[in-house]
Amino acid sequence: MNTTTDTTQRPKIRRAHGAAAIDSSQLPPARHFIDGRFTEGQGTTTEQIIDPCSEDVICNVARGTSADVDAAVAAAHRAAPGWRKLTPKARGEIITAVADRLQENAELLMDLESWNTGKPRAVAEDDVHFAIDCFRFMAGAQRAGTALASGEYAEDHLSVIQREPLGVIGAITPWNYPLLMGVWKIAPILAAGNTLVLKASEQTPLTTLKLAELTADILPAGVFNVVAGQGSVVGQRLAEHPDVAMIALTGSVGSGQAVSRAAAESVKRVHLELGGKAPAVVFADADLPGAATALRNGGYWNSGQECGAACRVLVHESVAEEFTSLLAAEVSSFVIGEPGAGPDVEIGPMISRAHYERVLQHLEQAAQDGARAVVGGSALERPGFFIAPTILADVPVGAACTQEEIFGPVVTIETFSEEQEAIDRANEVPFGLAASIYTTDTRRSHDVASRIDAGTVWVNDHLVITGEMPWGGFKGSGYGRDLSVYALDDYTRTKHVMHNNAR
Ligand code: NAD
Repeated sequence: MNTTTDTTQRPKIRRAHGAAAIDSSQLPPARHFIDGRFTEGQGTTTEQIIDPCSEDVICNVARGTSADVDAAVAAAHRAAPGWRKLTPKARGEIITAVADRLQENAELLMDLESWNTGKPRAVAEDDVHFAIDCFRFMAGAQRAGTALASGEYAEDHLSVIQREPLGVIGAITPWNYPLLMGVWKIAPILAAGNTLVLKASEQTPLTTLKLAELTADILPAGVFNVVAGQGSVVGQRLAEHPDVAMIALTGSVGSGQAVSRAAAESVKRVHLELGGKAPAVVFADADLPGAATALRNGGYWNSGQECGAACRVLVHESVAEEFTSLLAAEVSSFVIGEPGAGPDVEIGPMISRAHYERVLQHLEQAAQDGARAVVGGSALERPGFFIAPTILADVPVGAACTQEEIFGPVVTIETFSEEQEAIDRANEVPFGLAASIYTTDTRRSHDVASRIDAGTVWVNDHLVITGEMPWGGFKGSGYGRDLSVYALDDYTRTKHVMHNNAR
């Protein structure tokens, strides 16, 4: 396999020829948003925000300090009593107004997200629509909480269960779905009656800052604060801050561990959505063309920079050859390009030069381990951090490319011979975020799904996510749930109040 930059035989990148999707006057203020207004903060340095298609600088955003976090937490504290006192109906109306404002600005948010991340337009559209729907769902769901019934469980004593907000919550988000992962935190945290301070990825803060700008006249000052900057400074301070009741992070395992360690000092709650290495198990009785189509989407959505991506196919040895050619046909037909080059572009660049180099190193290691690139396997032309959509076959059992999160457009194919072996191998990685199985056998569809160690298991599909259902992992993929009423549970606490009614 060749991972050099000789691009003569490689897929072409469709370029937008410099047509900027949005005017730089529509960029958000490149500063923190604290207590209802934008501020430079205390820092003296900035972060370059890079367009991963052109490698040009989009803008420079202020880097926050510990003092900026402290100011934001103080603002969130001041805002907390007023926000939690609102009735669910009143809070729901405000959150619905946020959704409406995003809807009015949906095109701008999509363009901005694609510019900052390089993601195809179809992905940005899905992100923004899902974000809007998440606000709408949480606005309504928080009005319909359920719990144990109040009643006399001890004689003459009335027990009442209260669901309370936690207070100020710190949220930390990654670069792969900057707006969407932010909203998966913001919507339930606010709906449950908490206030928050959010730190977006230093590489992709623009849509989060735009969200703050767009909703500044809707959300009361201090309810939602954003401090831009680095994980080791801003994220670390949020996680250790004694007045932050809980820290919620979506990111890598290493960042989850750092946050957990920092949170331990003040015994704060921790909510972690971490990495994944989702297996897709294709049985001999599967609808093979259907499975290949599902994995075209499930393996390569967002250019494979997706925590739930079906990046690890385990296929029964009797159908491995047929399935590999079906998937190869799907993957060979991807349109690769810049988001402005058309709505049919499906694969964009890696987020940064560092990540691009990391993915290429994984490909080199896989080649050394004996893997064969059926499709792709290399970098594409610069500028831009593009890597060809890749299928690796003949992958030895236990090879690093089957165990570690590559987080690029790379799917490995391994074979198995027995059902139990497939389950054991699906479960052998330290992650447990998502998985899928492909079968037409009803017994197998229930039984195997129940024996796979992952927070979401799809049968005959992959990566279909809906706001009513929980999302989150087992094992090294973390704990806590995004989306659904389970997220509202996570961002509240249960109080038992008991009244002595004896006369
Ligand atoms: P990352 O861990 O590098 O960064 C995530 C966030 O954590 C960033 O805002 C970063 O600044 C911050 N951070 C880094 N070090 C920190 C520290 N010491 N203290 C506090 N905060 C710190 O992850 P990334 O590269 O931005 O995103 C990719 C990772 O996110 C992948 O592992 C992917 O699987 C995971 N992810 C998971 C889900 C999910 O739902 N489980 C969703 C999206 C992404």
